[in-house]
Amino acid sequence: AAKGDGRGVHRFYSSDMHTDAEDRRQLEQDLRQALINDGLHLVYQPVVSSKTEQVTGYEALLRWNHPVRGAISPAVFVPIAEDTGLIAQIGEWVMRTACRDAAQWQDGIRVAVNVSPTQFANPGFPSTVMGALAASQLAPERLELEITESVFLNDDDGTDAMFSRLKGIGVRLALDDFGTGYSSLGYLKKAPFDKIKIDQSFVRGAAAKGSRNSAIIKAIVSLAEALGMDTTAEGAETQDELDLIRQLGCSHIQGYVYGRPMPMADVLARQQSAGTAAFAEGFKSS
Ligand code: C2E
Ligand code: MG
Ligand code: MG
Ligand code: MG
Repeated sequence: AAKGDGRGVHRFYSSDMHTDAEDRRQLEQDLRQALINDGLHLVYQPVVSSKTEQVTGYEALLRWNHPVRGAISPAVFVPIAEDTGLIAQIGEWVMRTACRDAAQWQDGIRVAVNVSPTQFANPGFPSTVMGALAASQLAPERLELEITESVFLNDDDGTDAMFSRLKGIGVRLALDDFGTGYSSLGYLKKAPFDKIKIDQSFVRGAAAKGSRNSAIIKAIVSLAEALGMDTTAEGAETQDELDLIRQLGCSHIQGYVYGRPMPMADVLARQQSAGTAAFAEGFKSS
């Protein structure tokens, strides 16, 4: 790596290749410990209806507070968990915790859980989902599983069977980060998604003059509508982005403009203080 590639000067020397591998091994060990010692927790980000501006659900997002390094992004440690197989246990913990928490929310409010391709490829995954639902008594339609396009990489009978089994349980399915992967339209035809999540890279800056993003968002929305699917615009930060997205017809919005991911205690506190009306207003003013 060269200077100025934005990744930090400590990556200068080839010996750092070694450090990176060493680093990953250390992180893997620490992650194992975190799983045992309650070192992981979930935060919840509100998803708001465009039409009513009320919260319809929350996305569960995994957090790891490393004892020495502080907060490590899931974008860093989830891939390590995938490579090492730890994702199976972590994913099960996430599923059970998210369902248990959501069962305490106001009825009808959904929880969205991210599912990694490795989890999705495991034939035991539907049992994990059913186990979490049974233990929490959460209604299946209140659980939404977020899957990325990469599950279609090994598109085979196993993938189709997994979709049917999950639909059979009655959970909702969302296609996450849409537009960033292969975006083949073929699988939209056959996979039973209830929702498409439009990736933040289209949403952010969409309100800027001359941006082509709004044309893309518009096209995705009309495609989703024709297929009977909802759309969530992810990563809206400003009022301008929010106004544009609502105008483009996305059915749901998730972004800092309405609220950052927050701990379970805050979700409960907001539900108690806000009642149902003006929920989203409460988020915006905070
Ligand atoms: P994702 O599923 O696409 O989640 C959305 C990410 O966008 C979250 O980042 C969220 O905090 C961030 N975000 C939402 N609104 C805004 C905004 O307005 N501005 C900005 N700048 N960011 C916004 P986070 O929590 O860091 O998660 C990153 C990724 O890590 C997730 O992307 C997901 O792919 C993965 N991840 C997180 N939790 C889990 C989990 O429990 N299991 C699995 N397998 N993956 C997870
Ligand atoms: Mg997601
Ligand atoms: Mg996403
Ligand atoms: Mg993502």
